[in-house]
Amino acid sequence: MSTTTTNLESLIQLDQAHHMSTYGRLPVTFVKGKGTRLWDETGKEYLDLLSGIGVTNIGHCHPAVVEAVKNQVESLIHVSNLYYTKPQLELAKKITEISFGDKCFFANSGAEANEGAIKLARRYAKLNGKEEAFEIITALRSFHGRTMKTLAATGQPDKQKPFEPMPPGFKHVPLNDIDALKKEINEKTCAIMLEPIQGEGGVYPCDEEYLKEVRALCDEHNILLIFDEVQTGMGRTGTMFAYEGFGVTPDIMTLAKGIGSGLPIGVLVASEKASVFSPGEHGSTFGGGPVVCAAALATIKVIEDEGLLENCRNVGAYFRQKLEDIKANTDIVKEIRGRGLMLAVELAQNNAKDIVLALLKEGIVANNIGGNILRFLPPLCITEAEIDAATSVLARLLV
Ligand SMILES: *Cc1c(COP(=O)(O)O)cnc(C)c1O
Repeated sequence: MSTTTTNLESLIQLDQAHHMSTYGRLPVTFVKGKGTRLWDETGKEYLDLLSGIGVTNIGHCHPAVVEAVKNQVESLIHVSNLYYTKPQLELAKKITEISFGDKCFFANSGAEANEGAIKLARRYAKLNGKEEAFEIITALRSFHGRTMKTLAATGQPDKQKPFEPMPPGFKHVPLNDIDALKKEINEKTCAIMLEPIQGEGGVYPCDEEYLKEVRALCDEHNILLIFDEVQTGMGRTGTMFAYEGFGVTPDIMTLAKGIGSGLPIGVLVASEKASVFSPGEHGSTFGGGPVVCAAALATIKVIEDEGLLENCRNVGAYFRQKLEDIKANTDIVKEIRGRGLMLAVELAQNNAKDIVLALLKEGIVANNIGGNILRFLPPLCITEAEIDAATSVLARLLV
């Protein structure tokens, strides 16, 4: 074996010796990706049903993204946001054309986009005569990021505990319970922040009726509605943004995972009325750089040109039916949840991790959330034939 070949064992040793043990990694190293496929160092091929974690929505190393990034890297990689750059401003224009938003701000991750949303909501309240309003209500089981503020926003006490005390300003309510939400709204509230479908929490969708009532409550109290679409955005649920499918428009939306095809970018999108930052109130060194913005522009174009929203709806429905068929034949599957190609299988026992490892052996990449939930976020270009192949393996493991 040549010395340049990566070796899984040596990588595991390097990880243990030199990387903080923040990730529960699976025993595989990937060296190549193309479309719905990944390859490990031995040349073994895998079908990717996870897309990073909902990142490579248009498939791995799409030629349009590769070309856009190559061209941009060769001409200009970075200048400060003190200057105008075309990819950034074209991307802002594109996002506002295809969404409810009027203005964008570019960050480098989902958590950072959410930090921006939190600041924006507080600023909006102050500018609208609510000097004392700073609290944001979020849902239990939600996930909004790993920075201290977004961790405080995250409705998962087990993730917060090791780092207490949490910064103040967040309240958590059970999802889809409008009365519980009403009880928490007061003169201190500046926004309600929700994922249309909770991703990291286990793929729990909001009820459409609930979201409509939340929208009405926000209007009634002049507080902002923030949708964290970091995971649900960029076609994942069958519409470009999940809010379209739910028929409820937020004032602020955050994007990240799927928009840059793997390059780090987060976006804060807001309506005209909520776009209240003044010069100097927010900023980023790297945010909105030419390379990531070129990648994002190319990604959006591929979603549009290749009919990936339609494919997501069709193949998503097909995948869901296949999962329902498995469920009908076993007591091990309790529930199927999700929309489009954001799907979860809840198991009746705590063996989701074992199933994920067994799938990996069979050349299928999937994910478990906790002990009993399997999550699937395949590339939006996946075919019915690929779903057939994956679900027949899954059926063998589950039934
Ligand atoms: C992944 C995720 C985040 C955090 O994004 P990072 O880029 O890891 O900071 C925030 N919100 C939701 C809904 C996510 O799925």
